[in-house]
Amino acid sequence: MFRVVERFVSINGEGAAAGELAVFLRFAGCDLQCSYCDTAWANRPDVPVTLYTAEELADWAESTGIHNVLLTGGEPLLQPEIGTLIGKLGEKGHRVEIETNGSVPLAPFAACVPRPVFTMDYKLPGSGMEHAMLTENFRYLQPQDAVKFVCGSREDLERARRILRQFSLDKLCHVFFSPVFGSIEPVEIVQFMMEHRMDHVRVQLQLHKYIWHPDTRGV
Ligand code: SF4
Repeated sequence: MFRVVERFVSINGEGAAAGELAVFLRFAGCDLQCSYCDTAWANRPDVPVTLYTAEELADWAESTGIHNVLLTGGEPLLQPEIGTLIGKLGEKGHRVEIETNGSVPLAPFAACVPRPVFTMDYKLPGSGMEHAMLTENFRYLQPQDAVKFVCGSREDLERARRILRQFSLDKLCHVFFSPVFGSIEPVEIVQFMMEHRMDHVRVQLQLHKYIWHPDTRGV
């Protein structure tokens, strides 16, 4: 059974499909504790959850009539049997995207059929969680995937640039720089990108935080 804290239809606020409608399945629990986490409520051990089977979730996703399905959290790859859910959603013709935090090995999930699209974080120093990043995950990325650097400071931006260059990430997949909401102004990110002529990176704002109040849930 899957431990679901929210399921709804909204626009995808981030990643390569940002701005498109998507079915959101948000699962409980995460192995990290980022300083800026905006879904910490979903990671508490006592968070109310609803239990669903893979079949029930896939049937519900199909009933929405929406093509894109986003598996998020928390950390969705910690849910046992997530591969079964990916398969069932794929059978129904959905595009399956997984937002993952960079600490879980991607290899087994990259072998799923159909292969999901990954939007993978690389946690920067400001998150306090960089020690948990698995850079071997970069080997499993494909052009439709994305690495997202959530930047809260100049130090974060410098570190993101070093990682991007070290692993030639822009040759592998999409690369996004997003601000930690309220910690850094988007214009600082754009200025950094201009300073370093980073025309292979996209700045990305979390759309849902501009369309709705930043604390609104279920959007
Ligand atoms: S990985 Fe995501 S859900 Fe987990 S603590 Fe960090 S920001 Fe929150």
